[in-house]
Amino acid sequence: MLRVLIAGGGIGGLCLAQGLHQAGADVTVFERAAAPDAFKEGYRIHIDPDGSRALHACLPAERFALFESACGRPPEAFAFLTEQLTELLSVDVLKAGARPDPIAAHRSINRFTLRQILLDGLGDRVRFGKELRRYETAPDGTVTAYFADGGRATGDVLVGAEGTHSRVRAQLLPHAERADTGVDGIAGRLPLTPQTLSLLPAHLHRGPAMVLAPGGRNVFLATHQYRSGTDLPEHLQPADRGDYLVWGLSARRATLPRTGLDRMPRARLHCLAQDLAATWHPHLRRIIQESAPATVSAFTIRTAVPVAAWPPSTVTVLGDAIHSMPPSRGIGANTALRDAELLCRSLVAAGSHPAGVTAAIGGYERQMREYGFAAVKASVQALRQSVTGNPVAFTVSKVALRMFNAVPAIRDRVFG
Ligand SMILES: Cc1cc2nc3c(=O)[nH]c(=O)nc-3n(C[C@H](O)[C@H](O)[C@H](O)COP(=O)(O)OP(=O)(O)OC[C@H]3O[C@@H](n4cnc5c(N)ncnc54)[C@H](O)[C@@H]3O)c2cc1C
Repeated sequence: MLRVLIAGGGIGGLCLAQGLHQAGADVTVFERAAAPDAFKEGYRIHIDPDGSRALHACLPAERFALFESACGRPPEAFAFLTEQLTELLSVDVLKAGARPDPIAAHRSINRFTLRQILLDGLGDRVRFGKELRRYETAPDGTVTAYFADGGRATGDVLVGAEGTHSRVRAQLLPHAERADTGVDGIAGRLPLTPQTLSLLPAHLHRGPAMVLAPGGRNVFLATHQYRSGTDLPEHLQPADRGDYLVWGLSARRATLPRTGLDRMPRARLHCLAQDLAATWHPHLRRIIQESAPATVSAFTIRTAVPVAAWPPSTVTVLGDAIHSMPPSRGIGANTALRDAELLCRSLVAAGSHPAGVTAAIGGYERQMREYGFAAVKASVQALRQSVTGNPVAFTVSKVALRMFNAVPAIRDRVFG
């Protein structure tokens, strides 16, 4: 039986563990966090058709059904708006008359809830408080992982799924780099009540929106609204229950105060976000103002630099560990899920012979590099377009979006 060690119990690592466990492999996940509830403050995450397909393939039927039932109202459209909340472009998720695919769909779920579903059924296959430091590969291909607590574990395959600061990537591909995009962000969350719902532009009742503002700024807004009758089991409930709106304001660092955002207390970040939005539509300003400072946090947007092909071995990487990307297209986790499904399928087909396993990992890595770094490129491009500080380029972008919006046939072809 193939023994697979996975470093990192995030979205990608746990999805891979689910798939391998179902297929009968001997899989163990080593997660740095001390306990599952370390991530209770989970925000909404958008799962796209790629992510949904991967979850469907890796989860047993009843757990996929649980995932579906825990999702919020599915998005019907995506909009681009100006900072005065006028429409630049609105695209429907489904073509007129089309029926939603029951599996490969767009979904909205709380990150903590998704993680809990991915942990379900794995039991002691997931070890908490295990921070991987390094690994050693023996001549026969077996791998020993060493942990910060002095422990070690040996398996046939080691998968680095520890996100952006992956130790496995650092050792396997020391030349792999992450670049600074020069863009920082401030995120916050507002509970949805009859009062706050009235602040939302009509577009947000149908799905997420990206607001493009002058001066190299944007704000992404999305609601997470449970479907009526949803009754989540206790262990899937995030810290803040109920419907909410998340916002993420991004700005070129050159336009921000010199003190790094990551060093600012939450209350100051909250004031800064309000200052950055000072000339925007009053409803947008109130959305930011009325979010509790305790929900406000900073994020720095960095991105992986594509890596040339490397010789395959019994050590590999998935998700943000290899292709971290700006959140501008909401596809980082979906790409990690896609990796998990592909790697799971490749390992299961390979059996347990070392040569077959290495070849299977090589096949996985070839495909993963192609779509993973294409996703990085698309996300970097979307980020650059949405925070351009060049007033001419900004005007041209807005004119282009309005033109696409005016011609549905072209709009649907380009953005569908
Ligand atoms: C603001 C924001 C919004 C986003 N929204 C979306 C979205 O809507 N849709 C989408 O697809 N993507 C989104 N993303 C991107 C998405 O969050 C990531 O791409 C995704 O979480 C990557 O999954 P992963 O499994 O590779 O890594 P992670 O989810 O980061 O998991 C890594 C795990 O490894 C653990 N770990 C770290 N180091 C070690 C170690 N040394 N040893 C053991 N364990 C370790 C960590 O504790 C963590 O549990 C967003 C990102 C941001 C910043």
